[in-house]
Amino acid sequence: MNFYSTNGKAPIASLEKAVVKGLAEDKGLYMPERIKALPKEFFDNIENLSFQEIAYTVADAFFGEDVDAESLKAIVYDTLQFDCPCVKVTDTIYSLELFHGPTLAFKDVGARFMARLLQYFLKKENNGSEVNVLVATSGDTGSAVANGFLGVDGIRVYVLYPKGKVSPIQECQFTTLGKNITAVEVDGVFDDCQALVKNAFMDADLNAHMKLTSANSINVARFLPQAFYYFYAYAQMKKAGLADQMVVCVPSGNFGNICSALFGKKMGLPIKRFIAANNANDIFFKYLQTGSYEPKASVQTIANAMDVGDPSNFARIYDLYNKDHAAICADISGATYKDEQIAETIKEVKTETGYLCDPHGACGYRALKEGLQPGEVGVFLETAHPAKFKDTVESIINSDVEIPAKLAAFMNGTKQSVEMSKEFGEFKQFLLKQ
Ligand SMILES: *Cc1c(COP(=O)(O)O)cnc(C)c1O
Repeated sequence: MNFYSTNGKAPIASLEKAVVKGLAEDKGLYMPERIKALPKEFFDNIENLSFQEIAYTVADAFFGEDVDAESLKAIVYDTLQFDCPCVKVTDTIYSLELFHGPTLAFKDVGARFMARLLQYFLKKENNGSEVNVLVATSGDTGSAVANGFLGVDGIRVYVLYPKGKVSPIQECQFTTLGKNITAVEVDGVFDDCQALVKNAFMDADLNAHMKLTSANSINVARFLPQAFYYFYAYAQMKKAGLADQMVVCVPSGNFGNICSALFGKKMGLPIKRFIAANNANDIFFKYLQTGSYEPKASVQTIANAMDVGDPSNFARIYDLYNKDHAAICADISGATYKDEQIAETIKEVKTETGYLCDPHGACGYRALKEGLQPGEVGVFLETAHPAKFKDTVESIINSDVEIPAKLAAFMNGTKQSVEMSKEFGEFKQFLLKQ
């Protein structure tokens, strides 16, 4: 399968090139040239298949031409070493829990898949070359990428994060790992970390010295595998007899997650419609209402993984729907909530149902609660475990949030990090010595 750029000015790329490069030469995002519809028999029988079996069928449609069946199966099965259950919250609202992976957030799925696919291509080249993944993080991305790539041969990961601006729970998930993971603590803010990474990708000396790549949600190997759990959610709801008018609500920031769901729909997944739930960063919500896309600086909220003022994957959604605003509105509606509303929702769901949402999932729940039509059943994505936002959630519900054993284990580890100024020269010298 080949990939084209949403900006239309870069050469067509193979899967391998799209995965290794991440972003196209014209700064556009790669899109698969074809989206294969899956056969009717697959959907007729889907409730009898395992998560891994479903995911392999979906993966085969995108990657099967470039990766041999046995290897692809191993990549998919090894990625999905945890469940993504649909849990009942009310009679008409279900939570798709995506926090059962190693770092308790949905990004584990894409990060683990990408690490394994990249390793597959490195082995195939078989020239012993090492790839260096640079990732800037404000929290969740760094932990998912670091853990997804942990111990994967031939790949070194550098996680750049702003000193003192990442919560201790998040920080320990990428600073205690060791092995092929290096945490770089930058004396600056997130934007400084991102600038260091961008400068590194553009630096001729560094590129001559080492093979560099990125692992953000722009990468096709990170965003396409997210489609797996939408098919699996459908299978679970179908098994329960609840899939006839299924609405899926996705708490959205950079829009990679919901974009993979829209790819699923193009493959025939019978989801009636989608809702993109936003926090106060409502650029997409405004686009749906006005037809004009106007990025702006992000504002800080308690659902901070969605604090995005210019969602990268909007370009993919726009391309997928041929820039047709009416067609986009026919499939997706929007919602936007301020911090007070998010807090109110976390409290209300807990009191009324006993279910504890994290701040992102709470946006999803509320959009379904307000937006479901009679006869519809909604599934929202619980994108992270509430304990990842322990302080925020505890202050809202006025009681303790238990930390799962997996998360606690990171907190017992020893922190190792390299301190760095925000000057590119210093970072460059550091990388040249590696
Ligand atoms: C990254 C993230 C999101 C946003 O996902 P996008 O794919 O960027 O839209 C939502 N919730 C959590 C917990 C996240 O980590």
